[in-house]
Amino acid sequence: MYLVLLGPPGAGKGTQAVKLAERLSITHVASGDLFRENIGRGTPLGRRAKAYVDQGALVPDDLTVAMVMERLHQPDCRDGALLDGFPRTMAQAQALDQELVGDGKRLAGVLYIKAPDQVLLTRLAGRLTCSNCQATYHQTFHPPRVAGRCDRCGGRVYQREDDTWETARRRLQVYFSQTMPLIEYYRHAGLLVEVNGDQGAESVQEELVVKVNALEAAPFSEAQDA
Ligand code: ADP
Ligand code: ADP
Ligand code: ZN
Repeated sequence: MYLVLLGPPGAGKGTQAVKLAERLSITHVASGDLFRENIGRGTPLGRRAKAYVDQGALVPDDLTVAMVMERLHQPDCRDGALLDGFPRTMAQAQALDQELVGDGKRLAGVLYIKAPDQVLLTRLAGRLTCSNCQATYHQTFHPPRVAGRCDRCGGRVYQREDDTWETARRRLQVYFSQTMPLIEYYRHAGLLVEVNGDQGAESVQEELVVKVNALEAAPFSEAQDA
């Protein structure tokens, strides 16, 4: 099953994706994580992407699409994937459609997690990220059990450079101008499923599970008419 998690930065995509992917036994593919790994390793891709990521701008579509498609062609994505943070532009969405169709596959649904802007900014400015496994925490809402250490792997927990108020605000603007059009695109395709991200993380997960189960139960045509 191929699913997309769509929503503004801070909506909780990463937080939800890790658990949901485990539940559904599909691979979690997060474009932001892939960029950060490449930047950390200093690969040619990482060197080209770094300035964009630091500024809160989108990395150009050609680089992004190539990176994600390469990931999707790995064996662990053969039977499905949970895409998190991709697509973020119309060009990326179209590239994904083409690629899936070319491979005889299709998207089962697009899970759109919504939350008010003020909530997003507060979450982003307090977000902490594991430098080793990319798990996310929050200074106030979800602090690691041992300060500065990841619960899952013991790795060092840090604040991403793009998680300052200023860059977070810029990333929200980028979301409004470049990513929001995808909502109508996927709604029109009958794939959009809306989820309330402004509730406790466990409740968001429950809502996601119920809605994904409904997708699995409904034949494609019914999902389209819904
Ligand atoms: P995204 O991947 O959509 O940018 P994250 O999953 O990284 O969002 O979450 C952003 C921040 O908000 C993190 O610090 C995370 O711990 C926190 N967070 C995520 N979901 C919730 C929630 N339902 N309630 C409160 N805080 C949350
Ligand atoms: P968040 O979880 O806050 O939404 P991500 O970790 O998904 O942020 O993305 C961090 C940064 O990586 C983005 O601000 C952007 O620079 C880059 N990036 C991630 N995904 C994409 C994408 N699909 N297209 C272009 N740039 C991307
Ligand atoms: Zn970790």
